[in-house]
Amino acid sequence: MSEPAIKSDAQPAVIRPDKETFLAEENPFEAMMERFDHAAQLLSLDPGLYKVLRHPEKQIIVSVPIIRDSGELEVFTGYRVLYNTSRGPAKGGIRFDLNVTLEEVKALAAWMTWKCALVNIPFGGSKGGVVCDPASMSLGELERVTRRYTASIIETLGPDSDVPAPDVNTNERVMAWIMDTYSMHTRHTVTAVVTGKPVEMGGSLGRREATGRGCMFVTREALARVGQSLKGARIVVQGFGNVGSVSADLMAKEGASIVAVSDKSGGLHNPKGLDVPDLIKWVKEHRQLAGYLRAEAVANDALLTLDCDVLVPAATENVITRKNAGQIKAKVICEGANGPTTAAADEILEKKGVFVIPDILANAGGVTVSYFEWVQDRGGYFWDEETVNRRLESIMTRSFAETMAMADKHTVSNRIACYMLAVDRVAAMHRLRGMYA
Ligand code: GLU
Repeated sequence: MSEPAIKSDAQPAVIRPDKETFLAEENPFEAMMERFDHAAQLLSLDPGLYKVLRHPEKQIIVSVPIIRDSGELEVFTGYRVLYNTSRGPAKGGIRFDLNVTLEEVKALAAWMTWKCALVNIPFGGSKGGVVCDPASMSLGELERVTRRYTASIIETLGPDSDVPAPDVNTNERVMAWIMDTYSMHTRHTVTAVVTGKPVEMGGSLGRREATGRGCMFVTREALARVGQSLKGARIVVQGFGNVGSVSADLMAKEGASIVAVSDKSGGLHNPKGLDVPDLIKWVKEHRQLAGYLRAEAVANDALLTLDCDVLVPAATENVITRKNAGQIKAKVICEGANGPTTAAADEILEKKGVFVIPDILANAGGVTVSYFEWVQDRGGYFWDEETVNRRLESIMTRSFAETMAMADKHTVSNRIACYMLAVDRVAAMHRLRGMYA
């Protein structure tokens, strides 16, 4: 196989819901709103602020025309949604995927708002996406899509206004093109316009591993709450992109046994534990898990309900639904992906007593080190990796503890506790700033 044009920062869909279920249960914006409404009610959010926080600040839809290698003109659709910027510049990734919709980007932008507030970093939330299939595009075509999309949304971008990062199917190389395109327009180099860049051009040490490392820290804390430790814990990881593979690797290094992993090519299972570094090496060479012989094959949907201590859904939205939540055997779910669990599944998991580490907490390590990258770029002074990891650990464990305190105080689920903390912080900023009208 030839070198892929792009290696994704996260995995594209592993299990997509059928259309009917999607409409009923899995509209991502509605799913986000359902949790927001619950938190707003418990916080007795005043009706005016409630209205403000239910609406994205800005939604941009652009056409992205490029010349294909064949010489033909092709037009893609791109989105950028700035959900809320009261706490600071908008922050959020860009995904390239055929499943991208405005509803999804709106939900993801809202999740970024709550995520940044939850870990208490001075950013608002945004998200972007281009509806395309990077697997079928050459490197040159991807570069042209990236540059044209960046140029189309350039008015919103900037270190003080909106700062993209990698997401599904985008990576350091894409971030480097965004930084260059923006810098060519502004006529000087602006490294802080984007995070998740190559280290050689102002990226942060530890950023590539940050989301997975954050997952490892909060899983360690969660296991302690249920009287276990990472050492000896049996872990299943769905999705083997950046988040899934790094989480698996770091948890295995802490003594956990990774009993199953999957990507869109299929799943692998070994109850005695998989050799994660060997799997990472395999995927580097073969681009997928399928074909690896030192484990049994397991179907993606069966993988989610395997017997284990911790399940890490690290692929995409809506994989734990009302259809399979009842069969989940994990004691702890660490949501490496954004929105892997539907609101209907939340209720089922709560009744079963599964300890859920919600996405906006579990995967916040990525944006936390993005914040460190932005700080380092603006200060022009770079930290060593040990400092990055230590500061990440301190933010993740503090946020975990604050979530637990909130959940205990109000007797609510971990997810609602996260939303309460986050929405309260965003609302507090609005109250202090007042309304410009
Ligand atoms: N795309 C990642 C997320 O969903 C990272 C965002 C960022 O670093 O700005 O959290």
